[in-house]
Amino acid sequence: MSLKIYNTLTKSQEKFIPIENGKVKMYTCGPTVYNFAHIGNLRTYIFEDILKRVLEYGGYEVKHIMNITDVGHLQSDADDGEDKMRMGAKREHKSVLEIARFYEDAFIKDLEKLNIKLPTAVPRATEHIEDIINLIKTLEEKGYTYTANKNVYFSIDMFENYYKLANLTPEELQAGSRVDVDRFKRNPLDFVLWFGNSKYENHILQWDSPWGVGFPGWHIECSAMAIKYLGEYVDIHCGGVDHIPVHHTNEIAQSEAALGHKWVNYWMHGEFLILDNGKMSKSKGEFLTLDKLIEEGFDPLVYRYYVLQSKYRKPLTFSYERLEESKKSLTALRNKISFIIENIDEFTIKDKYKIKKYKDEFNKYINDDLNLANGFTVLFDVIKDDALNNLEKKILIEDFDKIFGLDFIKIDIENKNINEEKVNLVEKLLKEREESRKNKDWEKSDNIRKLLLEMDIEILDTRQGVKWKIKE
Ligand code: AMP
Ligand code: ZN
Repeated sequence: MSLKIYNTLTKSQEKFIPIENGKVKMYTCGPTVYNFAHIGNLRTYIFEDILKRVLEYGGYEVKHIMNITDVGHLQSDADDGEDKMRMGAKREHKSVLEIARFYEDAFIKDLEKLNIKLPTAVPRATEHIEDIINLIKTLEEKGYTYTANKNVYFSIDMFENYYKLANLTPEELQAGSRVDVDRFKRNPLDFVLWFGNSKYENHILQWDSPWGVGFPGWHIECSAMAIKYLGEYVDIHCGGVDHIPVHHTNEIAQSEAALGHKWVNYWMHGEFLILDNGKMSKSKGEFLTLDKLIEEGFDPLVYRYYVLQSKYRKPLTFSYERLEESKKSLTALRNKISFIIENIDEFTIKDKYKIKKYKDEFNKYINDDLNLANGFTVLFDVIKDDALNNLEKKILIEDFDKIFGLDFIKIDIENKNINEEKVNLVEKLLKEREESRKNKDWEKSDNIRKLLLEMDIEILDTRQGVKWKIKE
């Protein structure tokens, strides 16, 4: 089944075609580890997790890289204000490194609590300074940079088609940036690759470079690490929608300028989580974390379920009332699934065609730009389909949960730990046993019975033929 995804670059839904058959190279922008992730950030990571699961479900081998920003991200994405890491260290009277490791750890724990699969590698900016410097050198050699006031800037006027991702005019892009333009910038939209400015003289993390002691800008770190780990061509690059006009636009400019060709084929962006009373923002101080939701009595997977109910490309409003509704509906769903699993009493797959039909339907929806809402409808149809036995239902629920990641089958009950593979194996062995009995090969048939017993499968020779069940 072919996957269709919405590509911000072309502003359209496109068929996904990987660079290399069967493989996907995926880059997602990671957190700046100066504070806890808020639940808005986590919505974006859940969306990226679903994308990865859909790709893996479709048989792709996904190489996924996500950076950790532990230097160089100033308060404003357009190089203005204080360094966020330094702000965190000051706030907590700790070293930048202590802050960085503490919040990186907390972030990874959040991902685990939400059943978000960890990336293939999670490189830190501070451990890739040499790669960053090399990339800036390449840009300098190719004439894309200029130095002013000790900073190295990327000159966007040297790069053709700077506006292609955001699809905005220069005026519109500038309107979105801050009022106070750095007077050393030739174009207000130019951005810093290397900070050496005396404004940041006391910066805690500093490195030697061909342009003097300093530290890298934020945008360049993603390009450097993506190129290092994924090579010159990337299939999919993701982030939240706020990254479109500045961060991703700049990532494209510097990467394509350095590489001399198109860099990423598909750009995908998750819409924001908003609060009833406005935007969620870390710099404003008050923001909701996953631990806060846990303190309020919500299982992290209730939040995952909440997020999965809505399309990733639509803004989602958060409220405790709606989270409470999700909690109720997830509990009801879990109860239904437990009941199904506890009551598996028929150990046959009667209708393979029907199972396939449900799987195909589910597949069709998730491959339609990650339409999980319709995926849930298929799950509910399965649960209430009286023509399916409980084993067939369990097999389908387990399969769909590879995408949902809601631990539906962890509620598995003793002795009912049977899955599709096991059923297929049992049925294959039973056929072989029948064959050997027909051929009067009693030894073989006996061996198969023993083997099945070792798998906790009991065979019952009844008048209606051979039946089997899980040993009590
Ligand atoms: P940051 O740590 O600020 O770089 O953000 C981490 C990720 O969360 C990025 O992909 C952002 O685009 C995304 N993000 C930031 N705020 C929100 C929000 N309110 N809702 C959804 N995603 C967000
Ligand atoms: Zn990035």
